[in-house]
Amino acid sequence: MKDYPDVELFINGQWRPARSGKTIAVLDPATEDVIGTVAWAEKQDLDDALAAADQGFSVWRATSAFERGRIMRRAADLLRERCDDIAVWMTREQGKPLSQSKAEIRAGADVIDWFAEEARRTYGQIIPARHPDVLQMTVKVPVGPVAAFTPWNFPINQVVRKLSAAVATGCSIIVKAPEETPAAPAALIRCFADAGLPDGVVNLVYGIPSEISEYLIAHPVIRKISFTGSTPVGKMLAGLAGQHMKRVTMELGGHAPVIVTGDVDVDAVVATMATYKFRNAGQVCVSPTRFLIEQPVADRFIEAFAKAAAEVKVGNGLDPETVMGPLANPRRIPALEALIDDAVAAGGTLRTGGARLGNRGYFFAPTVLSDVPLSARIMNEEPFGPVAVINRFNHLDEAIAEANRLPFGLSAYAFTASDRTAARIGNEVDSGMVSINHLGLSLPEVPFGGIRDSGYGTEGGSEAVEAYLETRFITRRPLSA
Ligand code: NAD
Repeated sequence: MKDYPDVELFINGQWRPARSGKTIAVLDPATEDVIGTVAWAEKQDLDDALAAADQGFSVWRATSAFERGRIMRRAADLLRERCDDIAVWMTREQGKPLSQSKAEIRAGADVIDWFAEEARRTYGQIIPARHPDVLQMTVKVPVGPVAAFTPWNFPINQVVRKLSAAVATGCSIIVKAPEETPAAPAALIRCFADAGLPDGVVNLVYGIPSEISEYLIAHPVIRKISFTGSTPVGKMLAGLAGQHMKRVTMELGGHAPVIVTGDVDVDAVVATMATYKFRNAGQVCVSPTRFLIEQPVADRFIEAFAKAAAEVKVGNGLDPETVMGPLANPRRIPALEALIDDAVAAGGTLRTGGARLGNRGYFFAPTVLSDVPLSARIMNEEPFGPVAVINRFNHLDEAIAEANRLPFGLSAYAFTASDRTAARIGNEVDSGMVSINHLGLSLPEVPFGGIRDSGYGTEGGSEAVEAYLETRFITRRPLSA
């Protein structure tokens, strides 16, 4: 196996360089070494991809859901077979520990299987008519060619949900995958190509994100947009899609609250949530960020969480001992340092971490802040890194009000022994996903998505299939009647 591949564009069933020949360097965030290149698409390449997606759609929409599912299940099997090689590339380009790369790839294969099955159940309706001769029905048809924009934190997971939903429903797709982490998404798409997908159904480009999104979203061939990334960029792209009346799914930022009441096993919750917080170095949209701990157990919780954070083994993701790898790109280092300095200046307490580790590789210390005033930036902006903030509450009303204070509403967590409290949190916390007393998000068969500034639409469950379908109404009466 080549250490790390040079990544090409995939257009109309062909792997090929950009027409201009331009490439972008890919860095290993653990070493800062250049490990490969990725082709840089420009307008002509995008025109090729659009023509291919248009043609691919006309073939794929006429292919049965049964046949689409058969090819998809073959792609899922190929992804499982190739998991070990792809995982090494993912860890080298993104930084996460190898075990997390493998888990992401296996979960990706499960996503493909689930959508392949679910798309065979896109039922329409027969609607009772007012006249006995009239037949009224709805049918579900694919929305059309999709443009998908995916970020670098989960190079496979972020692509596979959009790709699987599109392919399963009979859409074609152009994926603009992340330039920082190009090899894993390309390997995923190779599985689909090798499984027998017709030319043009799936196309892959990389380049300057703003140029590609402006061109594709406005283009008449594209009928749907799906974006995962930050709230400001999501709002801009949703605005552009609105100007052109395009369907949109937006999976944006979060600032997840975690409510912990005094009646739980504090050590068990700390063990679960510290592992979850520092997974993928906190670069996760559903990462737990604002811990709200009931006052009687707050000191114990803070101390135990800070100890767990300080013990996290940070290193190169290829080292089997590593629990947390580097940040995926350098721009998060000054961003995190500024948020932490501001929190301390505002009166918060730094319990552990707080700074970059070493000067080669983008390593950052697992960080815990406590008792941070709400005016601090970190209480209002998504840190998107390995930083937990732990504050206290006295009454459940206060904790729910704090959970709902921000405009985000992606994920929320709670641990409580009281069924009544659990029911209140489930009903009253404004969040697209609420996970109580266990970690139960991100399965293919359940909804995954946010509300308010965290976006709209879901990338899991049956609604995720609906997002790629149009409902057409047909009413029919025999001429002879
Ligand atoms: P960013 O906002 O610059 O970029 C986020 C993603 O959007 C990247 O993949 C980028 O390529 C893409 N992007 C940016 N501008 C775009 C445009 N005009 N058109 C199309 N795509 C565009 O931020 P960043 O520094 O890469 O990441 C940090 C922030 O991004 C975090 O604060 C977090 O909110 C957000 N983010 C969220 C997720 C998620 O899973 N929801 C994933 C990655 C990043």
